[in-house]
Amino acid sequence: MHSGCIFRSDGRISIKRLSHNGVLSAERDMSEKYIMALDQGTTSSRCILFDKTGSICSQAQQEFPQIFPHPGWVEHNPWDIWETQLQVAKEAMHALHADPSQIAAIGITNQRETTVVWDAETGEPVYNAIVWQCRRTAEAIDSMKNEGWSARVQDKTGLIPDAYFSASKVAWILEHVPGAKEKAEQGELRFGTIDSWLIWNLTDRTVHVTDYTNASRTMLYDIKRLCWDQELLAYFGIPESMLPQVLPSSGILGYTESLGGRIPIAGVAGDQQAALFGQCGFQKGDVKSTYGTGGFMLLNTGSEAVHADNGLLTTIAAFAPAKKDMDETGDEASWSDALPVQYALEGSVFVAGAAVQWLRDELKILRTAAESERYCREAPDTDGVYVVPAFTGMGAPYWNPYARGCIFGLTRGAERAHLIRATVESLAYQTEDLLQAMRDASGLDIRELLVDGGASANDFLMQFQADISASEIIRPKCIETTALGAAYLAGLAVGYWDGTEEILKNRGVDKVFILAGDKEKRERRLSGWKRAVKAALSWANG
Ligand code: ADP
Repeated sequence: MHSGCIFRSDGRISIKRLSHNGVLSAERDMSEKYIMALDQGTTSSRCILFDKTGSICSQAQQEFPQIFPHPGWVEHNPWDIWETQLQVAKEAMHALHADPSQIAAIGITNQRETTVVWDAETGEPVYNAIVWQCRRTAEAIDSMKNEGWSARVQDKTGLIPDAYFSASKVAWILEHVPGAKEKAEQGELRFGTIDSWLIWNLTDRTVHVTDYTNASRTMLYDIKRLCWDQELLAYFGIPESMLPQVLPSSGILGYTESLGGRIPIAGVAGDQQAALFGQCGFQKGDVKSTYGTGGFMLLNTGSEAVHADNGLLTTIAAFAPAKKDMDETGDEASWSDALPVQYALEGSVFVAGAAVQWLRDELKILRTAAESERYCREAPDTDGVYVVPAFTGMGAPYWNPYARGCIFGLTRGAERAHLIRATVESLAYQTEDLLQAMRDASGLDIRELLVDGGASANDFLMQFQADISASEIIRPKCIETTALGAAYLAGLAVGYWDGTEEILKNRGVDKVFILAGDKEKRERRLSGWKRAVKAALSWANG
């Protein structure tokens, strides 16, 4: 994927200019239109221009500083976010000599939950952005739980109370920034997740909106009644005047002149929801699994907001309203009140690819993550070795923050290849645990998994996943599913693509992995994994 990068002398920006077949292209047709995806992530801002086939035509990326004022605290400077995002958008256009009239629409996808509060008059943030990872409000959330709010919060927002979500971060800013509370009460402050902050600036401070997917990660939004929840706003002391208007993920939310001409902003979704959409997970029962540093799984549950008791979250999925729900102009004024919202179940694995990094960086038994595949194939099996990479506790469906990594089943004959294979296999076992939790909560017998993320490049892992989950594993050609999802949402809203059927026709599949192992082997392996997890939890509980 990364061939064709151009690095500037300052080393900060990479640009790709690719044709359909992945070769650095000559000049493109000046009448060609593109969709611009702004992908605002936790460590970098990226911009990708896609064409009608969903191929990447150019790409630019810029990192920005992470700010750690205290242990466990994480902040970003909102101006760094805005400036890097604008810069990469210009760079990506420049790489194709594209002018604004060639950008049919902009789609935005973003790190979720990260919170910005700014002055409505001056547009100046009153504090740095508090990043989703920041734990400064963990105690406040503990108090909330102790006061018995958990069930009510989950019922309204689909979320299990946590410092990750925006609500307690906004409350912290209002309490700790001198004068902020008074200004907020007088209607002088605005709150937004990163999508809102970008749109506010892209529209020259005229539009204050977000989309359903981002709103559903604030822990302030009632995902069934589709409104900000008055009781939670009161609990956190957040005036409603601070909040953005919530709109569907696909539709014109505003226009920008920031790139030298008028371009509609027509798609917005949080990163995980955008990835499900980019994987063409449009239908109930579609599920995507991302194998990155951590793992993220999202299951489209259609019009039903499925309640889960096993540590999964309920959230709003990105969806494109059917044409009948929009008027002919596709204008923002046209949203029907009765949009059929789509929901998703979400679960995460704290340590996925990070376990392979551990083999490489701490144990030093791998030179590269990709090399793990060769070792996995060298050993016919793990010879009874199981690795439970619970370095930071265990997520759904186990939920134990005190769990730690364990290795079981070592014999005198255990070799490097066994340990590497057992670690790679643990990614598949954890994914199967999430999948089973989703099957249990939704009642859907899911047998197809759409995969992406760095470790999905490992063919051994994907085949093992197919065998362990007795499912078909589908890996797309374009693994930039997050940006692609934002592009699809925007392109559908302006008629660049006719409908999801057209996009599905475009969908490029790189490889499908189908069940090859037998049932007895699968059950034996899974029962070994369950024993290993049980032992790890028993160790944690002392
Ligand atoms: P993120 O977006 O979370 O930074 P990526 O999607 O880029 O992560 O994936 C990087 C992760 O995938 C790393 O943790 C790395 O160890 C793992 N990884 C990359 N390639 C492979 C591979 N071929 N086999 C196993 N793990 C891999």
